[in-house]
Amino acid sequence: MKTEDTMANAKTTARPVHDLVVVGAGPYGLSVAAHAAAHGLHPVTFGRPMESWHAMPSGMFLKSEPWASHLSDPAGAYGLDAYASERGTRAEHGVPLPVSFFAAYGDWFARRAVPAVDERMIASVAPAPEGFLLTAEDGGTVRARTVALAVGVLPFLEVPGPLRHLPRRYVTHSSHHGELAALAGRDVTVVGAGQAALETAALLVEAGAAAVRVLARADRLRWNTLPPALDRGLWPTLRAPHTGLGCGWRNKLYADTPGVFRRLPAATRARLFGSALGPAGAWWLRERFAAVGDVRLGHRITAAAVTGDDRLRLDVEGPDGTGVLETDHVVAATGFVPSLDRAGVLDPALRSALRTVGPAGAPETGALFESSWPGLFLAGLLTAPSYGPSMRFVFGAGYTAGRLVKGVRRRLRAGGRGGAVVGRPRSGERAARVGA
Ligand SMILES: Cc1cc2nc3c(=O)[nH]c(=O)nc-3n(C[C@H](O)[C@H](O)[C@H](O)COP(=O)(O)OP(=O)(O)OC[C@H]3O[C@@H](n4cnc5c(N)ncnc54)[C@H](O)[C@@H]3O)c2cc1C
Repeated sequence: MKTEDTMANAKTTARPVHDLVVVGAGPYGLSVAAHAAAHGLHPVTFGRPMESWHAMPSGMFLKSEPWASHLSDPAGAYGLDAYASERGTRAEHGVPLPVSFFAAYGDWFARRAVPAVDERMIASVAPAPEGFLLTAEDGGTVRARTVALAVGVLPFLEVPGPLRHLPRRYVTHSSHHGELAALAGRDVTVVGAGQAALETAALLVEAGAAAVRVLARADRLRWNTLPPALDRGLWPTLRAPHTGLGCGWRNKLYADTPGVFRRLPAATRARLFGSALGPAGAWWLRERFAAVGDVRLGHRITAAAVTGDDRLRLDVEGPDGTGVLETDHVVAATGFVPSLDRAGVLDPALRSALRTVGPAGAPETGALFESSWPGLFLAGLLTAPSYGPSMRFVFGAGYTAGRLVKGVRRRLRAGGRGGAVVGRPRSGERAARVGA
């Protein structure tokens, strides 16, 4: 569906200014839109619902528990359990949930809780007198007083430096693979030690790759253990409480009090962001992963080039020194870096004005998820260096959505809902004042 006011640039000035445009229709964007709609803000949401989830290979499962994987609406009416029950099934603790089921749940949530989804991608968000001018991929434009940027993980793919110059035919990111069948019969090297790497390697074996090896800088693979029962008595619960990010008190801090995380000193936040909830495989994957025979730990690629016979030559450094490895294809399962530089959807003027945080230069996010540019709100991975690890997971959408919409409402009140300027920081107002 297209919003009616987005068709031609020429008529832009005659069209209404939306109170809120949400860019991104994943778990975060849809949750923000659901909260905004419930508060009568009539948000317009751009993007293909649950795109990154629909793009994952079939056969993948959620690592998070179903009860930690709800999208958020204020009444809690459209949780994962409500969807499962409508389908005549149950999403149970300790039972891995297919990614395809979760993606379909997100679509169901969008149909029920989110009023106006426009599937076009937004090409640019630029400052404008009334707030922001958004340009869609087909050139249509929309004006907004506030914007919630919830573009998720895909703009922030991380590929190791020595592999970046190689064409997609030889090197892909794990998120590029809808299906892995195209790599059947090939010799594939998977780089990384996290869930995406280990699951991709197992799926490649199952898809008939001729050889699969895992290459990782880590010196050992880490595996999560089977989660304990939810109801397990007082002492085990006190010792290591269940949280949406796994058991334990440290996880409880990350899961339940992202606002406290945001108030930690910047250096502490950066250290925790770099180390918390590090790479580990899901408990249910371990048995399947046993089929991947070749695992090279403590290794890193120092150079890569295409050979004369159309293969890849990798120069590799490992515990026993340097060596050379030939392979047909590399899948870099090396995660995402929430750097503002990669948020190409933001107009350069906007991007360069934003205050950043952390070594990768993520945009700093204020108390109610407003960036340092008044009226520009952020959700999801981009906010993880400010709010902590839960923002890397669906679980963080519950904390984010209500607060972000509260921030939007405050900003609209402060800016005047009838057309006064909300964007563009005035001198001395670099930081978001809303709730800061
Ligand atoms: C293989 C894999 C497995 C994972 N498993 C789990 C798990 O089990 N549990 C968990 O909690 N998390 C998991 N994650 C992390 C997960 O990706 C995030 O928790 C979640 O997707 C964040 O939601 P989001 O809305 O921020 O981003 P996304 O789900 O990435 O959604 C972003 C949306 O924005 C849209 N978009 C992007 N740019 C634009 C634009 N310019 N204009 C319009 N729309 C745009 C996209 O099309 C997409 O629909 C996994 C990630 C990967 C890669």
